[in-house]
Formats: sequence, structure tokens, C-alpha cells
Amino acid sequence: MKKRFTRRDILTIGAAGAAGATGAAGAASSFGRLAFGPTAAFAAGKDSALPQVPRKILGKTGEAIPILLFGGAMRLDPRFDPKLAEAMRFGVDYFDAADCYGGGSCEPAVGAFHTRAKIRDKIWITSKSDAHDPKGFEKTVNESLQKLKTSYINLYFLHALENADFLNKDLEKVVARLKKEGKIRHFGFSCHNANVPELLEKAAVTPWVESVMFRYNFRQYGDKALNKAMDAAHKADVGLIAMKTQGSEASFADAWKKFEKTGKWNKFQAVLKAVWADPRITAAVSHMDNFKKLKENIAAAVDKTELGALDRRAIEKYAAETRSLACDGCDHLCREAVGGAIPVGTVMRYVMYHEAYGEVDEARALFAKLPAETRSRLKVLNFERANDACPHGVNVAEHLARAQALLA
Ligand code: SF4
Repeated sequence: MKKRFTRRDILTIGAAGAAGATGAAGAASSFGRLAFGPTAAFAAGKDSALPQVPRKILGKTGEAIPILLFGGAMRLDPRFDPKLAEAMRFGVDYFDAADCYGGGSCEPAVGAFHTRAKIRDKIWITSKSDAHDPKGFEKTVNESLQKLKTSYINLYFLHALENADFLNKDLEKVVARLKKEGKIRHFGFSCHNANVPELLEKAAVTPWVESVMFRYNFRQYGDKALNKAMDAAHKADVGLIAMKTQGSEASFADAWKKFEKTGKWNKFQAVLKAVWADPRITAAVSHMDNFKKLKENIAAAVDKTELGALDRRAIEKYAAETRSLACDGCDHLCREAVGGAIPVGTVMRYVMYHEAYGEVDEARALFAKLPAETRSRLKVLNFERANDACPHGVNVAEHLARAQALLA
């Protein structure tokens, strides 16, 4: 039997959105109306009878991409992931991969998906390198090409860039050559740490940086430095992609889930709508790891209704009330309080992977990759000073004590 999202499923979103998207719960199997048979397993493409997610030009790449992008930081079906096929029917044909996503399984899964459906020319693949030096970057590009089973990658990023010095002449030459060889079509970087404004300013004056994917969410709308940098990058025609739009997708506390719904949008949809309303942003990448989230995100994207004042006030209220319930990874603010010894935001993120997403093995594997010295310090340091240093009121000491118990 085969039953997929219908036009009606997407356009009648009021009731469907009420419960909100959750973490690992609500996976495909719980979405009773959807089942994929063998025929569907090899079909993927735009269905022009369905409402399509709008498209915008991604800065100086000059190419149109959907405003909703499929984030691949998850375990996709390695044979053929039906979520990708369903997304494509509504025009979500941009897949955001990285060499490390899904523990390295993301790129092969995207490769399997497009080769089995024979649709390489119908999709946009972005991938990323954790190596930022020219030699390492080129090596990762070549590995990505193999894993993605493709002769070209539409957009290639330096992944999680922190040091702007990597955007140097040597890398520029390698990028130019890889483009000439047809291996990558466009270049940029992703970033999510404290110096996002500095990196966006750098992108604005670096002509060969065509796109930046950066952490941007409803907690940051009043951030002056970030807004100034976004203005500069937008003016320089750098294609801006928002990620982590949910302001930490999960929290340590159940209260995190309570969003006062004032209109037809749940929290997950409302914050996406708020990001799309920013004319500087081309698109938002979203972690749609189940069909419920996929449906809600598509519904929010295709609906042209703008957020009203009540919706915006609900977002502001929610931001204020939940500020201490999740860690935003801004550990430049609290790391010094523990002598720079622990990457607090990173460890907190692993705790959230474990507790909120149920990704126990992944969380432990990531934790095990931290230097042994860092892990051993976790056992002996006193984090009370980090509590005081966190301007958001997160109880660092409590959560890091739990990290040791859960992840070590
Ligand atoms: S504990 Fe607070 S200051 Fe430290 S990374 Fe998390 S949110 Fe930022």
C-alpha cells in the first residue's frame, strides 16, 4: 500500500500542527497515514499538482533554492530514505550534508537516494569539510564526491568555521581549481560559534565566499553586532542560510515544549516563519527527522500568511520564559569560568542528543572523541562558577554532572 501526503494534508494544518514537532518520538512509523511500498521506494520528484515550497536566489550563486532545506544531520535510511522523496514532491530538493553527519553515514545515504531514483540533476547537494586547510579541504571534497556518488557538488562549505584566517589565498586557489575541474560549483562556510558576526563581516569582504550558513534564531533578533554583520553580508550578495532556527532544538526540561499557540502555527512553524520574514535570509535548513516535522515544515513554507503581532509576541514571551532551559552553545561566555578547560556548550549538546533525541550511541561516540584530558577534568572540576557566568541562567554544574554519568 502506498499513501503519501496529499494537498489537503498540507493545506489543513491547524489541527495537525497543534501538538508541535517533538524529538525522536513521532517517527515515521507513528505517522499513521503514510506508508511506502516498493514502487514509492524508487520514485522521487516534484509533483506539480501539489503546492510547492517557494524558491529564492541564493546570493551571488545566482541559483534558486527552496526556502526550506532538508538538514542531513541525522541517520537517514542508507538504501533510500522516503523522507527525502516526500520532501521532493513539494519542491524541497536541497539536501544539506556533511562529511561527519550521521556519524559519516549521511553522504552515502544521499548518494544512494539519488542514484536509485536517478535524479542527480534534479537535486541540490551541499556538503562540508571539517578540514579547513587547503590540502585537507581538497581531500575531503574528493572523498565526498565518492560517498555522494556524484561528479559534482552544488555547494561546498568549510564546516563550523571559527578561525577566519582559513579564508586565505591558498584556500582561494584550491577552491578556484576545484570549480574549474567541475567538482564543486559554489563555495562558502558554516559557522555557529561566538564569532558568527566577525565571520559574516569577513564573508562580506571576501568575494569568493558565495554563501554562509549560520546559527540564527528567535533569541537573536535584537543582537546588534549580528544584525550589522548580516546587513554587510547581504549587501555583498552573500547567500545567507539560517540554521538551528529553533534556538536549541531540545532542552533538558519538559517545560521547553510549552509554547503558547496564538494562531495556527506551533512553535516550530512560527520560528521558521519569523526567519523567512527576514529579507536577508534566503532559506532555513531544518532537521526533519520524522514525517510529522516534514509535513509541518512544508505546510508553514507553502502558506503565504505572514506572522501576526500576536504570533510575534508569543515568540518573544516564549524566548523569555524558556531562556534558562536550554544551552545555546555560546561557551565563550562561560568557558573562561572553568579556566577554558571544558567546551561547555559542546558537552551540553551531547547531553541533549542523549536525553532529548534518544541518540545514546551517537552522543557517547561524540563524547568519546573529546580529548581524554577534557573528559577527565569533567570529573573533578567545580562548575559553580560557570553557573554564575552563564547570562541565561543555565545550571551548568547540574547538567555537566549528568553528562559524566550519561556519556562517560
Ligand atoms: S551554559 Fe550558558 S553561557 Fe554556557 S554555552 Fe550554555 S547557554 Fe552559553
